[in-house]
Amino acid sequence: MNYPKLLEPLDLGHTTLKNRSIMGSMHTGLEEMEGGFERMAAYFAERAANGIGMIITGGIAPNFESSRGGATMSNDEEAAQHRLVTEAVHSADPDVKICMQILHPGPLAYTPDAVAPSAVKSRIGRYVPAELDAAGIQKQIDDHVRCAVMARKAGYDGVEIIGSAGYLISSFLVEKTNLREDEYGGSYENRMRFALEIVEQTRAAVGDDFILIFRIAAMDMLQGGMSWDEIVTLAQRLEQLGVSIISTHFTWHESAVPTIATMVPRAAFTGVTGRLRKEVNVPVITSNRINMPDVAEEVLERGEADLVSMARTLLADPEFMRKAIEGREDEINTCIACNQACLDHTFGGKLTSCLVNPRACHETKLNYLPTKSPKKLAVVGAGPAGLAYAVTAAQRGHDVTLFEASGEIGGQFNLAKQIPGKEEFNETIRYFNRMIEVHGIDLRLNMRADAKLLKDAGFDRVIISTGITPRVPDIAGIDHPKVAGYIDVIQGKKSVGDRVAVVGAGGIGFDVCELISHSGPSSALDRDLFAAEWGVDFENHPRGGVTGVEPQVTPSPREIFLLQRKETSVGSGLGKTTGWTHRITLNRRGIKMMKAVEYERIDDAGLHIVRDGMPEVLEVDTVIICAGQEPLRGLYDELVAQDVPADLIGGAFEAAELDAKAAIKQASYLAAEV
Ligand code: NAP
Ligand code: SF4
Repeated sequence: MNYPKLLEPLDLGHTTLKNRSIMGSMHTGLEEMEGGFERMAAYFAERAANGIGMIITGGIAPNFESSRGGATMSNDEEAAQHRLVTEAVHSADPDVKICMQILHPGPLAYTPDAVAPSAVKSRIGRYVPAELDAAGIQKQIDDHVRCAVMARKAGYDGVEIIGSAGYLISSFLVEKTNLREDEYGGSYENRMRFALEIVEQTRAAVGDDFILIFRIAAMDMLQGGMSWDEIVTLAQRLEQLGVSIISTHFTWHESAVPTIATMVPRAAFTGVTGRLRKEVNVPVITSNRINMPDVAEEVLERGEADLVSMARTLLADPEFMRKAIEGREDEINTCIACNQACLDHTFGGKLTSCLVNPRACHETKLNYLPTKSPKKLAVVGAGPAGLAYAVTAAQRGHDVTLFEASGEIGGQFNLAKQIPGKEEFNETIRYFNRMIEVHGIDLRLNMRADAKLLKDAGFDRVIISTGITPRVPDIAGIDHPKVAGYIDVIQGKKSVGDRVAVVGAGGIGFDVCELISHSGPSSALDRDLFAAEWGVDFENHPRGGVTGVEPQVTPSPREIFLLQRKETSVGSGLGKTTGWTHRITLNRRGIKMMKAVEYERIDDAGLHIVRDGMPEVLEVDTVIICAGQEPLRGLYDELVAQDVPADLIGGAFEAAELDAKAAIKQASYLAAEV
């Protein structure tokens, strides 16, 4: 067997989990959408049919007032909707368990009716929550219990109660959010009371033959957060009250340590779960940045957990477990932890999907069905768009030739993978290389296809994914020898001096700054380096894991100015859930960010700019241009002029949208229909 630990069943007493893999909870937006439950049923059933052991749904609120428009489970009508999901999962594989997560957002609710133990606004909350009175507390407990009972009626095998992340239950546990002086505040015994009463009363109401998971913040990454003793005490008390499983979580949403972004090392936090596992007798779940089966297996092998939870991993590839079971792990479409189409969407109020798998949450809308009329297709350019098109079309039975002018596939991904902290992009390139083999795509590297070749070869259709060319801004002195393009810098073709100005502060300007301000090995590949850089103490576990721990930052070996013309704060356009990590990193390294800059000229003295009406010279020896891109469409125009049927995709279609998420999505939809 390939992964003996991962594939080992787990006996929970009244029931057995068929293996140690869990699809972890993730809100998708389907929960609230018209017809969303039908789509959610298809989404989960596809994962259930492909080997996952247990699924936990996105968070469902226990009452209307806590969610205001969000999904709730409080009555028969709602239970009937959920039945679509539970039946779909159980008919896909009767051995797969599905639990519903009960999530009361408390101070993080998007409603003026938000409630909490005390009227303490979260750093990321929208409203100051109202303090619950004694009757209010009892109502919340009752609603959690009713929610679990309704979940059972809806056909779920269990529930997960979330007691972490800054939501209601966790806000009772932590001193800074619980200022109460009654029996629910003050001492830790009192602060635990709310969580314990919910669990005790839920267990009594649902019976013993129902999975009851409690999600605990095993390291909340808060200054003044929970101490290790408090975490252990809570876990042991939960065990006494009959939880079936304890799931470990590693953050509050407001904490200032990245825990799921791509710069977080794989399985960075599983050691914390391992320590907690020694303190309890119920199975424990670990999670975060577990994106390949060998990573999961190693965590289990080290005895750090009984179960491994993977959420985004399963968004990216619904067949993740099947491929692991069948020894086809090189075919796994790996989650690269970019958050661009999942959490950035969730927190932006958009439907979740996945950058590398646009079918995620669109299983009823986007399907790659075998073609009834196979065509001879040429795809020109093996960047993200070209690759997605070629693989999707070939998978459907088309005869695909993929032309690439350079010696390797990947396009812009080959730049991204050079940036410290973005090593995961190597996985996407590995995946596409393997898919080219699996689907028999005729890959022609080092071949610049021209219009004559494409026309003479008699292709039924030519897909142009020739990408972009970097924009050359109209600045006097742009030809000066100290000017470098970002591609040359990332590829190491142009040396970079000690004093640098970076023109353009989009995603690529930030990437370039990361690269040239970085020294030493990448902390994304080393848990200890990561911990030092972000001020986390895994060994001693002070309160929250971070209290009193200073981040150890290696200053940039260069003086760097990152510039933009816009008046908005620099980096505000980066991804919602990851942009802050890039801003913090560059700030800590001493990069000077400047907004509302006018560029005057570049000469031997440096870069001349105007700010607030005042001229200034940045005495730099390198000016790196990261000013966006222009589409490369010449070939497309030629083909159209010669009446060759052609489509334009990716950056060549819309350079302003040059982003792998849009490129892969557009290509996949088009290839699904050709
Ligand atoms: P971008 O996000 O469009 O940023 C281009 C920057 O250049 C802007 O800061 C713009 O700001 C400036 N600019 C535009 N025209 C200019 C001109 N004529 N002269 C001087 N400055 C000019 O493009 P990008 O940074 O190249 O990124 C391209 C794509 O890759 C984006 O879609 C991005 O989402 C994606 N990407 C994302 C990440 C990520 O972290 N998620 C990382 C890398 C790339 P001003 O106009 O204010 O000066
Ligand atoms: Fe993973 Fe990115 Fe897909 Fe989210 S969008 S599941 S982080 S690859």
